[in-house]
Amino acid sequence: MNKQETPTFPSRLPKVGTTVFTVMSALANEHHAINLGQGFPDFPCDRQLITHVNEAMLADHNQYPPMIGVADLRNGIAEKIQNLYGHHYDAESEITITAGGTQGIMTAVLSCVSPGDEVIIIEPAYDSYRPSIELAGGKTIAVSLEVIRDETGRVTSYQIPWDALAKAIHSKTRLIIINTPHNPTGMVWGTADLDKLANLVRNTSALILSDEVYEHMVYDGAQHHSVASHPELAARSFLISSFGKTYHVTGWKVGYVAAPPLLTKEFRKVHQFNVFTVNTPMQYGLAAYLADAKHYLNLPAFYQAKRDFFRAGLSKTDFKLLPTPGTYFQCVDYTALNIPEAKLNEADFCKWLTSKIGVAAIPVSAFYDQATESGVIRFCFAKQEQTLTNALQRLQNL
Ligand code: PMP
Repeated sequence: MNKQETPTFPSRLPKVGTTVFTVMSALANEHHAINLGQGFPDFPCDRQLITHVNEAMLADHNQYPPMIGVADLRNGIAEKIQNLYGHHYDAESEITITAGGTQGIMTAVLSCVSPGDEVIIIEPAYDSYRPSIELAGGKTIAVSLEVIRDETGRVTSYQIPWDALAKAIHSKTRLIIINTPHNPTGMVWGTADLDKLANLVRNTSALILSDEVYEHMVYDGAQHHSVASHPELAARSFLISSFGKTYHVTGWKVGYVAAPPLLTKEFRKVHQFNVFTVNTPMQYGLAAYLADAKHYLNLPAFYQAKRDFFRAGLSKTDFKLLPTPGTYFQCVDYTALNIPEAKLNEADFCKWLTSKIGVAAIPVSAFYDQATESGVIRFCFAKQEQTLTNALQRLQNL
């Protein structure tokens, strides 16, 4: 070997490459497309939240906070969960502040999955689940949402694959990862779904990781049904959430994990050597902002207005709208468009839409390990009305 050559080694994640999100965002930049691909707001957060953070910095909250997170923030989270979902988490032994939802997920997986353990995910799935499981040495068992189609074969909705889930659970199942409201489909779990899951895991040692980062984006007067609202599930669950989604600050990367003491104890063993602590002034700022419940209680109405505006505009196109009971994503079936490109696969359709029409979207096939084509793409409507209007004008010309 040449003296200046870097030694090679087996990749820990040989299958991980550049994600479609990065590819689409780069393509969107190159073509000056309106980016409805990646999920982040294009509007500013509340100035009051920034003021709270500034005040925390000026008050010299700039050194390491406690490893488990700032007490005021953990207490605020415990109170919020108690009020919304009726479950009391002890802020000292059951709530940990994380560097966003993604770190919470990775740390939770590393803390309970041993080599050879099986972890069930439901595809289409958020892309951090699989690498987290692989790094822990676990085996990913993917079951797919059932795709419901109309008589012409077009996708109309998705359903939880109960039979496949039941078959997948056995003695090697260490963890089941669920996500409600669900990225990318927008579907939400109901109380009956939580009951069914509880029935499936009752006599097993399977734990649950419930990714609820979109918990405050549920529409039409419906409620979010958290694992925290189900005592039997709460007793075996890591509950993950993220302030990035709730307060329009995806770049701050602050979230939390609520879990019973036994799970939290193991979680923190990993957390303390994974990040140790999370950004102090942000935690103080978020704690002050969280004290006013309207900041999250107003969120459904805020995003429902955007959803309805975007759907009304899309209904003037030949895209077929899938239901969006939750999240800030709108999925559409494009196969009915009267253009040759309607025959393209999802990834190629999105590349074409971005480069030629000027609107970036994400193919739902990207959320499957083995690309599964259903003619459905995902738009993000967490955008200013003007952005949505501009995008709709382009889409209405198709
Ligand atoms: N889970 C899901 C389903 C998500 O969509 C995201 C963000 N895209 C996350 C977790 C991660 O949240 P954070 O940005 O706080 O890491």
